[in-house]
Amino acid sequence: MRQETRRKEIIRLLSQVDEPISAKEIAQDLGLGAKDVRKIYAHLDHVAKSVRSNGKRLLMIPPRCKECGYVFNNMRRARLPNRCPRCKSERIEPPRFIIK
Ligand SMILES: [Zn+2]
Repeated sequence: MRQETRRKEIIRLLSQVDEPISAKEIAQDLGLGAKDVRKIYAHLDHVAKSVRSNGKRLLMIPPRCKECGYVFNNMRRARLPNRCPRCKSERIEPPRFIIK
């Protein structure tokens, strides 16, 4: 039940923002700590499915390597990759989300 409430909060937040925001920003807005960021990614997978039934879409700006600019396209799930497959850097710009 609490999971359901959390997802509704995420849906409401991502429907209101003007610009896409990161999972960390979502956690902060909901009053959650940094350790909950991983849970936000899990919620986002469910959020993507539930908004689709309302004719909306969860859009994701894919993660990007800050070192070489590599863009993580073709990601099936919302997550923050550990490292860049091209230059092996661990400085990855996290994905950002918005509901349209
Ligand atoms: Zn790179």
